[in-house]
Amino acid sequence: MKNTVSNHIDFYPQQRFSCRRCGYCCRLAIKITGEEADRLKKTMLPSGKYPPAEWFIPSPAQPSDFVVAKTADGECVFREDGGGCVLHEIKAKPLICRVFPLYIVNWKDGHCSASLRFLCPGVGNTSATLMEHQPEIIAGVAGSLRERMAAGSVEYSNENPVSLPVVRHVHAGYKAILHDETMPLKLRLYALSRIVDFHAAKDNYNAVSAADAGFAADAMNFTCKAIPVLSAELIKGTASFKDIIDFRILLTGYLRDDDPLTVKSSTLRMKMLCAHSIFAAGGGNLRRINPQAPDIGGKQILNLSSKIAPDDPALEIFRQFFYGRLDAMHFCGDIVNGLSYEMGIRHLLLSIPVTFALAAAFARANRKNVIGEDEMLSAVRLLDLTFRYSQFFKLKLTRKMLQRLSRPSVFAGILNLVFGRKLKL
Ligand code: SF4
Repeated sequence: MKNTVSNHIDFYPQQRFSCRRCGYCCRLAIKITGEEADRLKKTMLPSGKYPPAEWFIPSPAQPSDFVVAKTADGECVFREDGGGCVLHEIKAKPLICRVFPLYIVNWKDGHCSASLRFLCPGVGNTSATLMEHQPEIIAGVAGSLRERMAAGSVEYSNENPVSLPVVRHVHAGYKAILHDETMPLKLRLYALSRIVDFHAAKDNYNAVSAADAGFAADAMNFTCKAIPVLSAELIKGTASFKDIIDFRILLTGYLRDDDPLTVKSSTLRMKMLCAHSIFAAGGGNLRRINPQAPDIGGKQILNLSSKIAPDDPALEIFRQFFYGRLDAMHFCGDIVNGLSYEMGIRHLLLSIPVTFALAAAFARANRKNVIGEDEMLSAVRLLDLTFRYSQFFKLKLTRKMLQRLSRPSVFAGILNLVFGRKLKL
């Protein structure tokens, strides 16, 4: 399909961002093209500590490109002593810096989508500014990205490869169910696992292939009528020993940051493998898997969130994270770990019990009896990487696990394990 430009932006408008000028993003690898490097070298800077010859080094991954050089303490060479950016002052920032902390995809049907990256400390806080008033920022950056990168696409699944426009009809139905806060969250997640499961059966492939603009209303009607049956099924679900082990393995996957140092060192890889295995068997401590994780024993984690509830600010942050990815479809697509739509939605469904389990673990580690804003932010920041970079979700084994754990008969048990049997959330 031709990559035509439409003004349609898929974006959950209640996401919040205010830059704190903390400099976190200035410490990340800032990759730029050779053209950008040439343009910047010709720019007259109002101030600056380094000569142009010291601004860039060749990118180790792509020698024709560059990365912005860092000072001995890891800061960007364009960062000023007071914390500002000398390129920002003269509106000459490279594209990668203008994009952060947005995650933007230009899709093959001309739509553009955006969500905020929770790695950035300025994202999500309930006191930060709403993004809904700034669509022009997204459109401007998306336009520049479109000139540089191929547009993304997604099919429903490898077995049932219907194209992006049909996927969007199905997605509108899934979105309507997941956004309907008159139903408990647990029930919405379970209802969706039932619909995905129905679509995955070979005999029902047509239900996806024939989806049109009426699909959203049909899916909602089905769900509303079936609430008593779905609730009864969900409450009965019990996780078997194997389900619990698999869910624990998956949880360690959501915690991985795939640090390149760990990947390269066989000793560190061995240590990680031991920490993961001990946790999967029911022991250990989450800190051993990821130093940013809560300091909590592996025995406690799974049922904490049935005892520690989130407060309203924590739920608002959860919505920004979850609806942000949902509305933008930033859980699937050929640039997102190569996940098909179906596998992506399974990934998203399972990330919810993981998020609440981690948030509750942070609350317990902080000796609090409620999940507050800080705990939810800490949890979603940990998960942020797994939606884009984690090698773990590229593994066939992981995908099989996602598929198994999100089947309704198993998923009900997982939801009860993490949230308790009542339909309170
Ligand atoms: S990491 Fe986020 S808050 Fe910090 S300077 Fe960068 S954009 Fe601003």
